[in-house]
Amino acid sequence: MNAPTIDWRARAATLAFDGRAVIGGRRAAARDGETFDCISPIDGRTLTAVARGRGADIDAAVASARQAFDDGRWAHKSPAQRKKILQRFAEKILGAKEELALLETLDMGKPVQHSLSVDVASAARTIAWYAEAVDKIYDEVAPTPRNALALITREPMGVIGAIVPWNYPMLMASWKLAPALAAGNSVVLKPSEKSPLTAMRLAELAVEAGLPEGVFNVVPGYGHEAGEALALHLDVDAIGFTGSTRVGRKMLEYASRSNLKRVFNELGGKSAFIVFADFADIGRAAQTVAASMFFNQGESCNAPSRVFVQASIADEFVRIVAGEAPKYQPGDPLSGSAEMGAIVDDMQLRSVLGYIDAGRDEGATLLAGGHRVRAETGGYFVEPTVFDGVSNRMKIAREEIFGPVLSVIRFQTEDEAVAMANDSPYGLQASVWSDNVNRAHRVARALRAGTVHVNQYDEDDITVPFGGVKQSGNGRDKSLHAFDKVTELKTTWLRIER
Ligand code: NAD
Repeated sequence: MNAPTIDWRARAATLAFDGRAVIGGRRAAARDGETFDCISPIDGRTLTAVARGRGADIDAAVASARQAFDDGRWAHKSPAQRKKILQRFAEKILGAKEELALLETLDMGKPVQHSLSVDVASAARTIAWYAEAVDKIYDEVAPTPRNALALITREPMGVIGAIVPWNYPMLMASWKLAPALAAGNSVVLKPSEKSPLTAMRLAELAVEAGLPEGVFNVVPGYGHEAGEALALHLDVDAIGFTGSTRVGRKMLEYASRSNLKRVFNELGGKSAFIVFADFADIGRAAQTVAASMFFNQGESCNAPSRVFVQASIADEFVRIVAGEAPKYQPGDPLSGSAEMGAIVDDMQLRSVLGYIDAGRDEGATLLAGGHRVRAETGGYFVEPTVFDGVSNRMKIAREEIFGPVLSVIRFQTEDEAVAMANDSPYGLQASVWSDNVNRAHRVARALRAGTVHVNQYDEDDITVPFGGVKQSGNGRDKSLHAFDKVTELKTTWLRIER
């Protein structure tokens, strides 16, 4: 039996918005009472006023987080007790899944069925996964002489600041939150000013689930105000940052200007997707690149935005990709069936259209898309766009566009493809498509990226690390390795007398 279809428009009309921060488990306006407008990219409508957090609000949130950490109300609970509460938190998220999906879609523009099936579902799974993991991790005993015992234990760091972007607001927050909370830390989260609403709801749901007040605080606000104050704060022990490479550099500066807090940067990408002529199923490769590129309006850090195709199959490949692109034509994000939604805001829309102009001006061939559409709705929609005849030196191949724009670059030899793929400041993900097992392994080893996919691009799971090399950052979210970023190793020596 089919699940009943949801009338998302009707649900949206009854949705309540609350733009206040959550500090010490309670909703709070900004200390100075200031707000900024939260605008929906779907139709340009103001959804609500959001607290404009600044230094004083960050001070209050960090003080609340510090007190909660120091008095042990969370950190001193046993891992099994923390597990239970975090599992309840994940259940609460699933219990509010339709509300959260709507908030996410209204706030940042993605199709609501994707918010539901990807963002909400993955955020809940992330929290449940770390909850389940935390009481199964053992500490170490070092191989010392018989008269001594050395314990190597993982200690929670204390107060973790999390600063996240707008493209997967809830999911990026959960990647930071879940390991940090499971390990016993307190958290202050600064969501993007472009998509703050679900973060505050998450904090409320956490308190409902039994997370002690003050352990998880959310302060919305602008990057140069709330974000900077958090990253400079002397009582914050580490910053988990996901966002642009430009702001990631600032995180390192803030740490060096303040208390040398640990900084874990998850930054931009310009991922290479290399298709060799010896890969038989060109259709599947072409369909995969279109689906991966246009998902989330192309606003994915790991979007395969540079496609390198071996010259002998390039004409057929681009013909298929250009035929796939219109299937992702943007539609009403609340329809429940649109494959692509709205670009997050007017500024990002203008930036994406600017890159499309740059591609034309530099001589690339526009094969599909290239225009703003649905302008009559008041929303910010761009067609799925494909450029052929791109060179790896062009601006559209070098810079992260963060919109639905795919560049096809042709190559002759394996060495040439690898050299061009690696010739980028970024190194987040890459993929190689070849039926030759030696070539697939050779190229996968040669590609400088945090993740390499072979003959696929869709697989992803909480069980594997996610992060980049070069200017894509140094952080690794997800998997058990994420605990390394939110804990410190401590050595304790004991003398054993005869
Ligand atoms: P952004 O760098 O502009 O903003 C990210 C966050 O930093 C926001 O919360 C913002 O308010 C805050 N910020 C901005 N200026 C700041 C400052 N001076 N001090 C402190 N905080 C500041 O990025 P964005 O536009 O929100 O997100 C898009 C970027 O995120 C893309 O580059 C994308 O590739 C990257 N991203 C990376 C990953 C990953 O895992 N590697 C995942 C998602 C997105």
